[in-house]
Amino acid sequence: MHRYEPVIGLEIHVQLRTRTKMFCGCALSFGEEPNTYTCPVCLGHPGTLPVPNAEAIHFALMIGMAFDCEIAPRSIFHRKNYFYPDNPKAYQISQYDIPLARNGRLGEVRIHRVHVEEDAAKLVHAGASGRIHGAESSVVDFNRGGTPLVEIVTEPDIKSPAEAADFGRLLRATLRAMGVSDVNMEEGSLRIDGNVSIRPVGEATLGTKTELKNMNSFRFLERGLDAEIARQEALVHEGGEVEQETLHFDPQSGALTSLRSKEEAHDYRYFPEPDLVPLAPTEQMLERARAALPELPVARADRLERDHGLNADTARQLAFRGELGDYFEQALAADGAEAGALANWVTNELVARLGDEDPLESKVEPAALARLVGLVGEKAISASAAKEVLATLAAEGGDPQAIVEAKGLAMAGDDELGGIVDRAMADNADAVEKVRAGEDKAIGAIVGAVMRETKGRADGGEVQRMIRDRL
Ligand SMILES: [Zn+2]
Repeated sequence: MHRYEPVIGLEIHVQLRTRTKMFCGCALSFGEEPNTYTCPVCLGHPGTLPVPNAEAIHFALMIGMAFDCEIAPRSIFHRKNYFYPDNPKAYQISQYDIPLARNGRLGEVRIHRVHVEEDAAKLVHAGASGRIHGAESSVVDFNRGGTPLVEIVTEPDIKSPAEAADFGRLLRATLRAMGVSDVNMEEGSLRIDGNVSIRPVGEATLGTKTELKNMNSFRFLERGLDAEIARQEALVHEGGEVEQETLHFDPQSGALTSLRSKEEAHDYRYFPEPDLVPLAPTEQMLERARAALPELPVARADRLERDHGLNADTARQLAFRGELGDYFEQALAADGAEAGALANWVTNELVARLGDEDPLESKVEPAALARLVGLVGEKAISASAAKEVLATLAAEGGDPQAIVEAKGLAMAGDDELGGIVDRAMADNADAVEKVRAGEDKAIGAIVGAVMRETKGRADGGEVQRMIRDRL
């Protein structure tokens, strides 16, 4: 029997954070009263003319450059014709055979193309599911119609659902660093479709792919792809064939349902948009986009790894959640802690304590964390005492040294500790005998007694050393 491997490519739609829509002067809106941000242009009234949004083109050029794409000297807008209630003109203005940018890369994944288009309006389905199937009625909110979008299509370079989710996180961090989108998946400003096929391991040709529509979190993207790969494998093992279709994944039930099959696939009858001239970025536009690019997460991770000797995984955690990287760099500038230890505290203890909260908005000042980590490094306090200090900092803020003194958390000195170790050994005579007899694990009981007595104000390694000295 063959073993199969998945081949995954992603299509990502990004709503740009411009002030106005792609081809008219209507403001962008989210969650406003329906149909209050519309005009004859975005409602598709006859005789109206689209005017491209310069800010949207600027953002799209930045995105193309961020992925090291080739920028087309002259790209063309097309009409993509389809009739659907969310599309008042019965066509969408998009780009077809000559996209704004192509042949790029983000991390390990090649970018096939980046193009500009306008978003459709929003259908609101009344009914328990919120989806069209089983809805009692449906209404259209045209506020979203005409919102500027960039569509990013990857090559099928992704080898597992977990890798797809990681790529999505990197993409979101990169777009966020550029400030070109809200990249909020729940509000639909970042929408991901996954294309997936399977093939026998070692074979080069691609199998028939299916498309999972609109995954609204990276966790659901991963789970949806997992479910679809399992479905395709089961189908092929039973001697069946995968059919090209578009699927919806329900994260609640884990079920995949078919939205449309190949037979119903649209023929969009693309033709050049007669109301728009080709898009030919000038030297000034390119220069301005290049100058607007900040340091991007991939470059930042490399720099953190190189300049501060961080391991690759930690550097990525800091760079891909930009606010963690900012926090780390501010704490490092405040001095007092070694970079590697500080990075570990930021990515582990601080994140565990604050969750998704932006640490720069928290009560734990970067300089305070740097001092705290410094105290651990100097062995002035134990790691478990430091966690207690961190809890106090997160709740009330303040100065770590003052908290250590107020709570009596300073590491037990050699004299004090010596007495406690002596007592613990006397109280645990059988453990002492066992260690002497070669049953080394028994030392844990004595160390535990010392830690209890000092309430964690001792270094476990140091306590072990003192016990062994006395044996
Ligand atoms: Zn409008």
